[in-house]
Amino acid sequence: MSFFEVFKQYFVAFKDAFVQQLANPAWDNPFYIIPTICLTTFILELTLPRKRDYAPLKRKGFWQDLFYVIFTDYLLLLFGFWAFSATIEYFFRNGLDGIGISSPVIYDIKTLPFIIQFLIIFILMDFMQWLGHFLLHRVNFLWKFHKIHHAQETLGFASTRHFHWAEFLVFKPLLFIVFLTLNLGANEFVAIYLWVGLTFTFFSHCNVKVNAKWFNYIFISPETHYWHHAKKVPQRYGVNFASTLTIWDHLFGYFYYPQDKGEPELGVEDQERMPRSFFGQFVYPFKSLFSREKERPLTRAEKRRMAKKK
Ligand SMILES: [Zn+2]
Ligand SMILES: [Zn+2]
Repeated sequence: MSFFEVFKQYFVAFKDAFVQQLANPAWDNPFYIIPTICLTTFILELTLPRKRDYAPLKRKGFWQDLFYVIFTDYLLLLFGFWAFSATIEYFFRNGLDGIGISSPVIYDIKTLPFIIQFLIIFILMDFMQWLGHFLLHRVNFLWKFHKIHHAQETLGFASTRHFHWAEFLVFKPLLFIVFLTLNLGANEFVAIYLWVGLTFTFFSHCNVKVNAKWFNYIFISPETHYWHHAKKVPQRYGVNFASTLTIWDHLFGYFYYPQDKGEPELGVEDQERMPRSFFGQFVYPFKSLFSREKERPLTRAEKRRMAKKK
C-alpha cells in the first residue's frame, strides 16, 4: 500500500472513532477526560486563587490558552496529524519487518499482574516525558519550538496546552519506544495514564495557591512548575522538567524548590519579540530556524512592548 492509502485509512478510522466517542461519553473517553479535568482545575482556580489581581477568565491569555486546548486535543486529529503519525509508525514497523526484526519486544509485560504492569509503564512513560522535555530545553533548535510554551506571562490550567504542535514529534517517538519494546497494546493503559498524567499537567499550571511542601518532592505542583517558567532561569538549561514525578529532577540535579524567594516573573528573556497571535506562534519556530531572531530589528509593536516593560 502507498503512503497515501495507509494515511487515508487511518484518517477515516480516527475520524469515525472521534465521532463515535463524542457521541458516547464514558470515563475512559479522552474527549471527555480533558473537559472534565479543565472544569475541575477551573473550579480550583476560582476557589483557591494564587494571584488575586485577576480572575481566571480575565487572566491575560486565558482565551488563547483555551483555543490551544481545542486545537491540540481535538482539531489536530481532524487536520490528520494523528493519522500522519500512525502512518509513519506503520511504515517504521514494516521497515523493521523488512530487516528481519519482526518483533522488537524486549519484555512481554502482559505476563505481569495489572498493578505491576501499570507502575512499570507509568514510570517509564513518565521518564520519557521528562527526557523529551529536557531535550526541548537542551537542544537549540528544539528550544525554538518549546519557547512558545515558555513565552506565557501568566499561567492558568489551560496554559499546559499552550505549546507548539511539533513538540509531539519529540514526545511521540520516545513514548512509542516504550509501547513497542514492552508489547503494550495502544489502548490498554491509555485511559488511566491520561487521567493521571493530564490531571498533573493541568494542575501544575493552575493559578492556585497550594502549600504542597513534601508533595513537591515526589510530584509536580504549581509551586515547582512556576519556577520552570521563571524568566530568569535558575540553571543554564532550566529546572523542574517533571510532568508528574519529580524523581527524575532529583536524580539528574534539576530539582529547584526555593521556599523563601516569593514568586518568579514568568516568560522568556526576549519576551517582546514573541508573537502574540496563534498564527504568529505557529510559524515563529520555523521562521527563527532560518533567521537570526535576536539580530533582527524590532518591529514597531515590539518596541512598544519593550517600552512598556521598562
Ligand atoms: Zn519547559
Ligand atoms: Zn509549563
